[in-house]
Amino acid sequence: MTENRLATVLDRKVPFNDLSIQWQQIAVDVRQDFEMIFEQSAFCLGPFVERFEADIAQYLGVRHAIGVNSGTSALHLAALAKGIGPGDEVIVPAHSFIATLWGVLYAGATPVFCDVEPTTGNLDVAAAERCVTAATKAIIPVHLYGQSANMKAVMELAQRFGLAVIEDAAQAIGATWQQRYLGSIGDLGCFSFYPGKNLGAAGEAGLIVTNDDDVAKQVRSLRNHGQSERYVHQIVGYNCRMDGLQGAVLRRKLPRLAAWTASRRKLAERYRQKLLETPLVLPSVQYGEHVWHLFVVRTPERDRLRAALAERRIETGLHYPIALHKQPCLNHLPSAKLSFPSAEAWAAECLSLPLFTGMTEDQVDYVADAIRALC
Ligand SMILES: *Cc1c(COP(=O)(O)O)cnc(C)c1O
Repeated sequence: MTENRLATVLDRKVPFNDLSIQWQQIAVDVRQDFEMIFEQSAFCLGPFVERFEADIAQYLGVRHAIGVNSGTSALHLAALAKGIGPGDEVIVPAHSFIATLWGVLYAGATPVFCDVEPTTGNLDVAAAERCVTAATKAIIPVHLYGQSANMKAVMELAQRFGLAVIEDAAQAIGATWQQRYLGSIGDLGCFSFYPGKNLGAAGEAGLIVTNDDDVAKQVRSLRNHGQSERYVHQIVGYNCRMDGLQGAVLRRKLPRLAAWTASRRKLAERYRQKLLETPLVLPSVQYGEHVWHLFVVRTPERDRLRAALAERRIETGLHYPIALHKQPCLNHLPSAKLSFPSAEAWAAECLSLPLFTGMTEDQVDYVADAIRALC
């Protein structure tokens, strides 16, 4: 291989994500905002967070949007605001990011694992129904990879048994179910703005949305030391405030989200077309409009394929390689002893291909051609 040829090959390396492309689009605006934030010392909550909260509440069509310091905090405060605590059970999928159930554990309640659909990886609601006991207080559907859970079935189940619905919409900002934005359907919706999410901060941030005025009031107090008014602490609170700098970044990114989502959809469709003839199991779109946070394929040859792609300088991800009931820190949970065959199969076979804002069609082709050559 000549030097030149080698150089082109290296140039075509496909990263799993490249956040600098988003930064280029917002840099001018954000620099001005940052200047003001430093001049005003508007570092914790403040006007930039308030403006972002108002903008995203309007975008999602909800009465309240409350900025916090991570998606994990959002899920924690959501559990507390619904009065979930010791003795309560909360149904969670066995295939998700572990933060889905941290809030339940932090609140002192018991997560109860439930298997997922073999097709979408989302909560299997028929299985969830079998998990309901007299102690069940809530259910957390995760809109995994950017696609809605089966919300029709989730809402029916919740209604029938009087359960609270806390949507984990961390991966699904802008995705819809029956023309409604995810996060706005259950009692509360929780979002993460971790930098790699579809709407990402410049650090840690998250959001809780709700249409319930009392719950909103509770969450606002919980995130800010349990204050109802300054220095009056009605309840034991936390420090989960969103940074002003994050509010500014997110507010500048929000108007661009629709275009970024549209480009993700095009890239996902291109992958689908190009991979149709391979033995890979391609993502199944069943509920609402997918926003393609992740493009996850399945194959029993996952580890071999992943290594071969890495050799071609294509970076891939695993979301997630160990089912939650198999995690060492959770093996004390009663339901961790059960088996969840579908969740375990996802963990063994899932492979996330690169898909990010600003990725080119050439990069998709490069990945897809490599896979076709290898399968
Ligand atoms: C990212 C993520 C979270 C946690 O969000 P953080 O902002 O990282 O705390 C929770 N649930 C799911 C499904 C996620 O993907």
